[in-house]
Amino acid sequence: MKTEKDRKLNPVMIIALGCLVIAVILTIGTLSLGRVAGNDTKVAVRNVSVLYLSELAGRREQVVSSIIDDYIRDMDVAVGMLEETDLSSTENLQDYQFRMKQLFDLDKFAFVDTNGVIYTSRGTRSDIDLYDLDYLNLSEPEIRIKNLESSDKKVVIAIPVDNLKFGGNTLVVCFMEIDMDVLLRNISIQSNNNTTFCNIYTRDGIALTDMVLGGLASEDNLLEAMEQATYEKGYSYEKFLSDFDGLSSGEVSFSYDGISETLYYVPIHRTNWMLTYLIRESIIEEQISTISNSIIVRSVVQSIVTALVLLVMFALFFMQQRKAAKEALDHEVSETENRVRQQELEEQLAMQEELASKSEELEKALEAAEDANRAKSDFVSNMSHEIRTPITAILGMNEMIRRETDDDDILSYAENISSAGESLLGIISDILDFSKIEAGRMELYMDDYSSEALIRDLYNLMRFRTEAKGLNLTFNIDSAIPKGLRGDVIRVKQIITNLLSNAVKYTEKGDVTLDITREEYDEEEGRVRLLVSVSDTGIGIRSEELDKLFVPFDRLDVHRNRNVEGTGLGLSITRELLQLMHSSLQVESIYEKGSRFYFSIWQDVTDPKEIGDFQPAALQKVVRSNEVGRRYYTAPGKRILVVDDTIMNLQVLTGLLKRTEMIIETASSGMECLKLFADRDYDIVFMDFRMPEMNGIETLHRLREMYPDKVERTPIIALTASAILGDKEKLLKEGFNDYLSKPVNIAEMEDMLTKYVGESAVNGTGSNAAEPDLSDAKADSVEDPTGIPQEILAISELDSKRGLDYCGDVDDYLFALQTYAESVEEKANDLEKCLSEDRIEDYALIAHSLKSMSNSIGAVGLGKRAETLEHAGREGNRAMLQADTGDFVRDYRALGEKLNNTECLGSLE
Ligand code: ADP
Repeated sequence: MKTEKDRKLNPVMIIALGCLVIAVILTIGTLSLGRVAGNDTKVAVRNVSVLYLSELAGRREQVVSSIIDDYIRDMDVAVGMLEETDLSSTENLQDYQFRMKQLFDLDKFAFVDTNGVIYTSRGTRSDIDLYDLDYLNLSEPEIRIKNLESSDKKVVIAIPVDNLKFGGNTLVVCFMEIDMDVLLRNISIQSNNNTTFCNIYTRDGIALTDMVLGGLASEDNLLEAMEQATYEKGYSYEKFLSDFDGLSSGEVSFSYDGISETLYYVPIHRTNWMLTYLIRESIIEEQISTISNSIIVRSVVQSIVTALVLLVMFALFFMQQRKAAKEALDHEVSETENRVRQQELEEQLAMQEELASKSEELEKALEAAEDANRAKSDFVSNMSHEIRTPITAILGMNEMIRRETDDDDILSYAENISSAGESLLGIISDILDFSKIEAGRMELYMDDYSSEALIRDLYNLMRFRTEAKGLNLTFNIDSAIPKGLRGDVIRVKQIITNLLSNAVKYTEKGDVTLDITREEYDEEEGRVRLLVSVSDTGIGIRSEELDKLFVPFDRLDVHRNRNVEGTGLGLSITRELLQLMHSSLQVESIYEKGSRFYFSIWQDVTDPKEIGDFQPAALQKVVRSNEVGRRYYTAPGKRILVVDDTIMNLQVLTGLLKRTEMIIETASSGMECLKLFADRDYDIVFMDFRMPEMNGIETLHRLREMYPDKVERTPIIALTASAILGDKEKLLKEGFNDYLSKPVNIAEMEDMLTKYVGESAVNGTGSNAAEPDLSDAKADSVEDPTGIPQEILAISELDSKRGLDYCGDVDDYLFALQTYAESVEEKANDLEKCLSEDRIEDYALIAHSLKSMSNSIGAVGLGKRAETLEHAGREGNRAMLQADTGDFVRDYRALGEKLNNTECLGSLE
């Protein structure tokens, strides 16, 4: 079966076929044209021949007649030369005749007399009859043929002479005799190629050359021969015959013996002869056909060449066409491709636009998510602040209870409050750490630390917990561990504490063991790799649950652990922290047998001295406040400045610091701090980070600008409740010497004091040993058993009991009230200013501190309203701020005035 491709004529075949067709057309055309041309040529040649031959015949006739005329003239001359003497005797006449014969090269030069006697140079003759001459009546020269029937024909030319007397006779005619050959000597009778024959016939058809029709005819006589011929159209024997008879010129075409011929005839002057030209047409035809054949061959060759040229041209044209078509196709294809590409591009563009709008949407969504995340972080941070603030109060007050009571029951309650508070703080810290990790902003802060101190802290932290649960706590510390290390000790401590806490949490009986081994010591780099391992004999973990260990908020064996406190965050935080330290947490656990959590970390070595034998018992250094022989940090006479915008915080810190016997000064804003710095030198400053107008960092910067020397020698410790999003690290970078998390842990605070103010000057013993005085606030006007003056109780805006609860004792409460009253005017102005200048964020901060301050003195109503304004500020609800600020500020100022008008506050220093 033919394929589609085969069925299509390929271009080469088209060209070949085209050329074949052209060649055939050209050949046929050439042949038919050749034939037509041949015929035309024949006619033309014939016409030309007729002209040419009639011309030729005419000329020959002239030649013959001029020869005859010459002879006649010669005879006239010869007769003219005849003198009388020549006629005087026969000898003289013959002599004369002899001379003439020689002179004119004549065969015979004779005279005829009236008797018909012929006088020749050799004598007389009487055969006049042979000459067919009418000698008696001859008036004109006459030409006759002698021996017409024989081959020895002679031409006789006779002229009349004027009755010349000779010997008694009268000579009337003079004639001469010429050989026929001599006459015809100048006339070629036959052409070279036997195509034409010239001949002379008598009127009767006798050929003077003995050749009839160029030798073709078998007859002797032309007229007889012509009787046998077949005539062409327009010619006839009769016509020919009458022409001959009448001595008129003409032509006749005929075929004789199958050969076509044409005969031209012209009468010769003075004779009764006809000069003829015969032409063999067959030969002409042959020649013409040869010519036309060669013309045809040439034409065919020409046609073939033309066809080839055409072929080449056709091929070139075709190729050109194909090229053009291909180019057009290519162009079309490229245009199509371009169109497609353009379409694709347009689609891509549309897609990109769509993507762009999508990504814009996504960006917006991301922004919204980030905003939400930020809001979440802010929320967590704020929550931590919010939660830590009351916990600070709780733990602070609790700490004071623990310090000031000897009642075992109360001590035990306080202990419970403390442990619950600590665990609550732990949870908050975990949540903060987790949000920090989630936000990708957990950073490590490197510091030099003592490995001994770290281990001691860990031991002290865990000892009571294990003891409480009846577990054995074992610390196996490699003696080769260097004493001084550098790393993020807080995070290292957090990691190990997490693991130890878990071990304690999930172990009912048996052991909790911490092993710290020096795995590798790279002296060159000055670093050590520690292997830390925490193992327990607890409940263990099912192998199939090991995967879920690090999933945030996921807790294993929930049923069994339902009574164990926890958030499910500890291990994921631990793992993330270890990742930051380029390490990883490994777990080995046998269900119901126990677990081992371990990791390796590199720490730089700052003091290569080995820690040596480190016995657990030796680790018990710090004693708790409720143990026998309480020991506090004291530094009598040292001056401390506490800066916090929240009065209650100032009170708690002041309360906690009481026992240190230091001179405690407070400032409720950055500005106040700057003022105080002008006159005083402090041994240490505790400064809140989050304050309105001028926050802790700004205050520190201003202090550094204003009092560079003082700042240089004064340790300034940041207090921060919102430990989220790298705030602590930021604080250190900004130039704080250290930081304390709020709520302030008394032990941490004392550590800080030890570190920056110096070793404890006096160790207090017993609860009354270090009863500090409030330096700035003292209540004089105590009128009521509750301790609160009547005039304060009379202020309706105040829930005094609540204020007292917040502040702890009447002194602190009165101090808080006084501070509150003093700050009213400034804060109210600030609030109004922020609103008019549209500084909504600052507004919210002021409202926030107003809320805290109002709550801390028991001005619950105002506190609530301040809180509403704070929220409105955070949300940017300007309409609400505009509507409510006026009333709020008015009531706030009214309360301030009432307080300022009281005697009890006025009597405070
Ligand atoms: P949690 O606050 O619940 O302790 P963690 O992230 O610290 O959260 O631990 C996740 C879970 O891993 C725990 O709920 C507990 O089921 C399991 N787990 C952690 N440590 C131990 C251990 N030492 N022994 C047994 N189970 C443990």
